[in-house]
Amino acid sequence: MEAKQLQTLKQNNTLLCQFIVKLSAFYEGFSDKIDTELKILRGHLSGTPNFSLAAVSIEKLNKSLQHQEITLRKYSVDTVSALEDAMKQLQKIVFEDNELKGLTTQELIKLNQPVTDIFSIYKLYAKAIALHRIALNKEMVGLSPVAASNNDAKSDVSGQARSVKDDNPHYRSILVELNHLIASYAQKKPDDQQLNDIKKRLDQGMDEDQLLKSCVVILRMIVQDAMSEASLTGKVIQSLHRSLGEVSNDVNSTIESSQSQFEQRRAGNEQLIRHISHIEEAVSESQSFERLKEQTQICVKELANTLSEQQDNDKEGQERLLALLSAMQSRIDTLQQQTSIYKKKIAEQAMQSRTDALTRLPNRQAYNERLETAYSNYKANGGSLAVAVVDIDFFKSINDRFGHAAGDKTLQVVSKFLKQNLSDNEFIARWGGEEFVMLLPDMSMQDIDKKLNEIRTKLAAMPFKFKQEKVKITASFGATCFGEKDTTESVFERADEYLYKAKRDGRNLVVTDLSADL
Ligand code: GH3
Ligand code: MG
Ligand code: MG
Repeated sequence: MEAKQLQTLKQNNTLLCQFIVKLSAFYEGFSDKIDTELKILRGHLSGTPNFSLAAVSIEKLNKSLQHQEITLRKYSVDTVSALEDAMKQLQKIVFEDNELKGLTTQELIKLNQPVTDIFSIYKLYAKAIALHRIALNKEMVGLSPVAASNNDAKSDVSGQARSVKDDNPHYRSILVELNHLIASYAQKKPDDQQLNDIKKRLDQGMDEDQLLKSCVVILRMIVQDAMSEASLTGKVIQSLHRSLGEVSNDVNSTIESSQSQFEQRRAGNEQLIRHISHIEEAVSESQSFERLKEQTQICVKELANTLSEQQDNDKEGQERLLALLSAMQSRIDTLQQQTSIYKKKIAEQAMQSRTDALTRLPNRQAYNERLETAYSNYKANGGSLAVAVVDIDFFKSINDRFGHAAGDKTLQVVSKFLKQNLSDNEFIARWGGEEFVMLLPDMSMQDIDKKLNEIRTKLAAMPFKFKQEKVKITASFGATCFGEKDTTESVFERADEYLYKAKRDGRNLVVTDLSADL
């Protein structure tokens, strides 16, 4: 090799090594696995570089990074501002349609106002944001190079889009996201005409323009819905306040009216006492029986009048009180009704925000909550607690070969199957994509190993059929028990490592504390 070439190679190698050192520093402490792999890679590249070993190491690293990236992305809770951002950019690119321009940034800013059911809205935001990102990438990366490489097709961009859609990964990603969005939305609005139309057209196939426009229509629906939910919540609260205000007025006037009744009664009693003393006077002062009789008659009449007046007053007061009480009762009834509707709605939302729309399994938020409880039970009562992660093997190929709808259906069937194979005190959630997580309390590792292997073989034997073709679906499992020094994170990471070992070792495998010698 010429000296000059050798020098360039060395320089490049040095640059590469420097880059890798920087990269290592960046990822330091982020994950043990990545740290170790970076160290190995550095070893291969320093001194006399061994590029073929380095390539193997880079591939491993790529996989880990990809996996970490997915985990991170799943964790990251995107904010409304990201949605606004994406909308602004999308506006520039997609909005040729005047009608669609209605969805302005101004409107989106309104979404920042507080709403009670923020969780369910967040879920939709997150999906909307993902959709936008992909839409943007598609516009920038997906179409332009193809259009640029083919001058004849430049005049008909939509025709061009149609012809490339099947090989365009962005198109497929948008399709996946839009399907997700619609799935979670259709639950809320099963009878929505516009939504059903889009669903139908999606099944029949859309070109990219239509697809993007459908995205915008769905997003607009979400925004409108979010706002109307917010205003509904506002209305319920307002009417609760009003009812409470009315009840408090009622109570006040009841107090006032019993006070005035008390006053009247006191005045009446005083008058009675006066009448009685008149009689006494009449008796002691009377000289003739006739006169006494006359005076007594007058006094008794006055007494009777006062008594009947008092009775009338009492009756009126009682009636007023009764009317007030029944008005109060009916207001309290309405209030109770409103509160129970509201409570039910909140409970429904809480439930929705913990359920995965496609599989109806608990979602990651539900898993985290359940894990907290299971972990504190385990800490308080001893026993054992295991976490198992499950990932369907080669799932992407189901989507690729038979379409996204078939993939969705498979996820639903597998979810139901897994759930059915767990007992009541065990728990399963959809972690994301085609990955599930289980909590298995109070079971020995031998029993867990046995149970998971039974589930694995039963799944592999299940008959799946797509487009007349019999397909075998398998999954890989990783399971581990909480140990003395474990945290909820370290246990999950270990289960995940076991899962990746199961994948590396050929898939359709269970790796547990018993079988893992990583
Ligand atoms: P491996 O055996 O290594 O797990 O391979 P894989 O193909 O199962 O894994 P990979 O991570 O490469 O692909 C997972 C695919 O699952 C990619 C994604 O499009 C698809 N997917 C994720 N969520 C859904 C969903 O809700 N519905 C459908 N149909 N596909 C989904
Ligand atoms: Mg998989
Ligand atoms: Mg996966």
